[in-house]
Amino acid sequence: MTFEELGLREEVLKSLKELGFEAPTPIQEQAIPHLLKDKDCDFVGLAQTGTGKTAAFGLPLLSNINLKSSIPQGLIICPTRELCLQITKDLEIFSKYLNCNVVSVYGGADIKRQITKIKKGVSIIVATPGRLLDLINRKVVKLSEVKTVVLDEADEMLNMGFKEDIDSILESAPDSKSTWLFSATMPKEVARIAKTYMTNPLEVSIGHKNQSNENIEHIYSIVKDRDRYEAVKRLIDYHPNIYGLIFCRTKRETATVAENLGREGYNAEPLHGDLTQPMRDRVMARFRSKEIQVLVATDVAARGIDVDDITHVINYNLPDDTENYTHRSGRTARAGKKGQSIVLITPKETYKIKAIEKQMGQTFAQGKIPNAEEICEIQLMKLIQNTKDIQVKEKDIEKFMPQILSSFESMDKIEIIKKFVSAEFNRFIEYYQRAGDVNQRAKESSRDGQRRDKGARARDEGKTRFFLSAGKRDGLNPGALLRVVCDAADIKSTSIGRIDIMASFSFFDADEDLTNRILKSVDGTSFEGTKLSIEVTNNEKGGGSGRSGGGSRRSGGRGGFRSSRGGSKRDRSAKRGGSERRSRPDRPRRHRGR
Ligand code: AMP
Repeated sequence: MTFEELGLREEVLKSLKELGFEAPTPIQEQAIPHLLKDKDCDFVGLAQTGTGKTAAFGLPLLSNINLKSSIPQGLIICPTRELCLQITKDLEIFSKYLNCNVVSVYGGADIKRQITKIKKGVSIIVATPGRLLDLINRKVVKLSEVKTVVLDEADEMLNMGFKEDIDSILESAPDSKSTWLFSATMPKEVARIAKTYMTNPLEVSIGHKNQSNENIEHIYSIVKDRDRYEAVKRLIDYHPNIYGLIFCRTKRETATVAENLGREGYNAEPLHGDLTQPMRDRVMARFRSKEIQVLVATDVAARGIDVDDITHVINYNLPDDTENYTHRSGRTARAGKKGQSIVLITPKETYKIKAIEKQMGQTFAQGKIPNAEEICEIQLMKLIQNTKDIQVKEKDIEKFMPQILSSFESMDKIEIIKKFVSAEFNRFIEYYQRAGDVNQRAKESSRDGQRRDKGARARDEGKTRFFLSAGKRDGLNPGALLRVVCDAADIKSTSIGRIDIMASFSFFDADEDLTNRILKSVDGTSFEGTKLSIEVTNNEKGGGSGRSGGGSRRSGGRGGFRSSRGGSKRDRSAKRGGSERRSRPDRPRRHRGR
């Protein structure tokens, strides 16, 4: 099928020709004719980023626009500023020959400038939910002529806590509007939006529901907890041309991993919520231009990252739910390319892979972390190739040649090659000879663990059990608990053990020696507008019988526990402190750049 056959307006077809889009992608082929023909219809498109979904909604939206009006006819709502700018850029390219205005509005930027732009006249607004709602409430964005509301990456928006904002926007827009929802996965909350706000939507699914891209190879490797960082380095060393994303669970872990990699000469930078927006923009621009080879990111900061050519996603540890994993892995293998998503798990976490496999309907292969010999071979070949590719500066070296040749007079060709290769390579071999076998260590730890588990009680030794005054009803899940606690106390997520999230409170284990630090720093911090209180508890089972947990319980909060509302929504301002340093002065120096 061609774009002409889909029925798009002339001006749009002209820009597509210029762009070099030859044929519609599957989601475009299925969505566009429907969205053009039946302008009032609702639509649900289940598709990953990278499938061409921006054009799938953007092209019909532009084709349906009435150019005479200067009041918004289309609202596109998406989770992040990054995605907002990307969609706006795409629409501007698609609408090059149309006289229509596309304006992007997002939080964290000067609202006055955005207001001025909107007041000049606009056909389509691309927005993050909070800022759009603000502008609607200020009566800057007029909704009377809105014909289409597009929810892009709906699952991400709900993950980020935009549920109420989205509800308010959809309720404020005219009843006659059509709603087009795009989502990579279909969790309950997305289904609820479809059910509440849509009438008989056409549902198009590219791939299966909740399933990730077929071009992604999912691999898990079992390592000891303390070998995660070593494993990441080996993976990068084994894939010298990697253009990758490493996902960590907390800001602190992200900063530490990136900092350690950077110090050891890897071309890696962090991306997390403690960086200012301009800093994040700079990091993203450098990653996009491949000046940065490896980006270490939190799930939240990496949302909306829309970069082609990512070869590897490395999961430093598993995310807290399968949807997050789908989003992480979906950052690779875009636009028909292949990619690998590698998950590092401890021996005890193998069951979690089985659960993800079941939910995604996808098989994971077990991979080994490359051993010293394999890495050295790859690095050696890379060194040889780099040497072969080097441009000799004939003029500059000419004058030194007699001296150089006379120094090597007594050696034959083979000997000279060996010496030159060794000059660069010895440090590498020496490092890896000392580094040991990560896979073997994991096996031994698994055997030890099994032995220990037989006699041990369910909870780890050396841990303190805590009671936290927020639970499922507050939107807390294990991942969020980890983020809140680790960021506030500035500790590693590996210090946290078992987590039990109950309806309105939670329990978790953490290293005993961190007890005071956790109590001091987590007490009073805010999660989604809920002020948290934390106490040490003796509860062993995680409060399965309701309110049996909690050391010294206080009255006043929900369920008898302290829990006071306050602070702004999504206020998860966490302190960030210095990060742990592990230096390896003898580590071979890396070459920056790819
Ligand atoms: P998206 O899923 O919208 O982020 O698109 C992923 C990438 O595919 C972007 O770089 C688009 O420009 C590109 N793309 C979208 N549709 C087509 C098409 N029909 N032909 C070629 N490239 C496309």
